[in-house]
Amino acid sequence: MRLPVIETIEDVAQRQLCCGCGACAYVSPDAIEMIDSLGHGRRPRFKGPRRTRADDQEALRVCPGLGLEHTFDRSHPDLIRELVAGWGPVLEVWEGHATDDAIRFAGSSGGAASALALACIEQGGMHGVLHIKARTDAPYLNHTILSTTRKEILSATGSRYAPASPCDGLQLIEDAPAPCVFIGKPCDVAAVHKAKQVRPALAEKVGVTIAFFCAGTPTTNATLELLRRMGVDDPSQVVELRYRGNGWPGDATVRFRTENGIETRSLSYEESWGEVLTNDKQWRCHVCADHTGEFADIAVGDPWYRRAEPGECGQSLVLVRTERGRRILREAIEAGYLALTRADASILPRSQPNLLRGRGAVWARILVNRLMGVPAPRYRGFPMFRFWLAKLTLVEKLRSILGTARRAMRRGLRDRTVIVPFMAHDLTTEPCLQFVSDKRADSEVAVSQAA
Ligand SMILES: Cc1cc2nc3c(=O)[nH]c(=O)nc-3n(C[C@H](O)[C@H](O)[C@H](O)COP(=O)(O)OP(=O)(O)OC[C@H]3O[C@@H](n4cnc5c(N)ncnc54)[C@H](O)[C@@H]3O)c2cc1C
Ligand code: SF4
Ligand code: SF4
Repeated sequence: MRLPVIETIEDVAQRQLCCGCGACAYVSPDAIEMIDSLGHGRRPRFKGPRRTRADDQEALRVCPGLGLEHTFDRSHPDLIRELVAGWGPVLEVWEGHATDDAIRFAGSSGGAASALALACIEQGGMHGVLHIKARTDAPYLNHTILSTTRKEILSATGSRYAPASPCDGLQLIEDAPAPCVFIGKPCDVAAVHKAKQVRPALAEKVGVTIAFFCAGTPTTNATLELLRRMGVDDPSQVVELRYRGNGWPGDATVRFRTENGIETRSLSYEESWGEVLTNDKQWRCHVCADHTGEFADIAVGDPWYRRAEPGECGQSLVLVRTERGRRILREAIEAGYLALTRADASILPRSQPNLLRGRGAVWARILVNRLMGVPAPRYRGFPMFRFWLAKLTLVEKLRSILGTARRAMRRGLRDRTVIVPFMAHDLTTEPCLQFVSDKRADSEVAVSQAA
């Protein structure tokens, strides 16, 4: 079947190849802004009149949604060979945590990402860290910030299992008086990697990139469902929402206004991530081949090769991917920001077996999509078929084929979807109706166009 041609950023978003990184808004700030859409995530919106194909060329060059290509030096003597095919370039594997107790406690895993950023600013001569945190006016949504102090970094710790577009703030790095740290999901870091190639001024100012492992971004609708499960029907009353952290892995916790004052409710990690959030992810995550930040200098994740004991403090799994990452990690350890020990390479696949199976399933999903006329990302240098063959059971193999075909029909992937913008302040008037109507609008448009 003939595949639709992707020529513009609008095509990327409407064909559901967008992962919401925000890089197109950085390279075309006069034309593109990032907006929230309940059923999709952070998405680009054109501010002015419709643009031409030529206008979009630079934005398309930095877009990770379209695909990724590895160009790292495969002859590097320190590459851990057995990890390359499934996990990209890895020079060293470490395990440990931030030495700052407050950062370790508040951090998602062991606070390694925040501790590294702090070390770069306090000891490494860097200016700040570009990352994301909850909005103060609507804490169930995120925004991009450039933090320059420990207090600011601490206030942005913890995973936010919700749409975020840190690359929409890359101009802040370009304009900074000294190099900066960038923290984001693998697709965000891949976008920075691409953007550095077209913007030398940015390349000069990116001091280090830190990616965290990512199994997928749940939509804002998933967060609203999580709030409902915690007894919050009106999100405009939310004062604070954390998805995890404050312990390891930590509970999802909401503080919200009621007639009797501020109430707090929580759900365990297994209930919040496992039963609610993971069921409603943006489509692009289902065809994502890089879940571990293969374009980053340093990648961090959870060392799930052993279960956390109740009350145990957080631990991080840390991958050094480049020489720059190696130097920066060494300096942070020597300056006392991180307590890490060298780990055996096998703890990576033992910690994240689902990510390796996911990489295999992506091979089948992309194939089925293309056969059905659904555009899919293009990957170069990402072996996938061997993991589909070796890591998936027969049932999983069948599911990766039949499930994809079913999803493509159900989600209307063969047709353009319409991105319905969502404004948080709408909540103050008709809180719950707004969610329902936005959600229905997204799916209704997709279905009606498919018909
Ligand atoms: C959507 C999502 C899926 C994940 N899936 C996995 C997984 O499958 N396996 C695994 O091991 N780990 C996963 N993680 C990562 C893990 O939860 C930890 O975030 C990671 O180990 C870093 O922990 P830390 O203590 O070093 O980070 P911290 O020191 O707490 O710092 C976290 C940093 O991440 C930034 N951040 C938080 N949420 C987002 C976001 N949505 N987008 C961009 N930046 C953000 C914050 O601004 C902060 O700078 C996921 C995280 C997210 C957000
Ligand atoms: S993936 Fe990033 S660069 Fe591509 S359209 Fe989406 S927000 Fe823009
Ligand atoms: S699964 Fe992949 S595409 Fe989805 S948010 Fe994570 S890194 Fe981005």
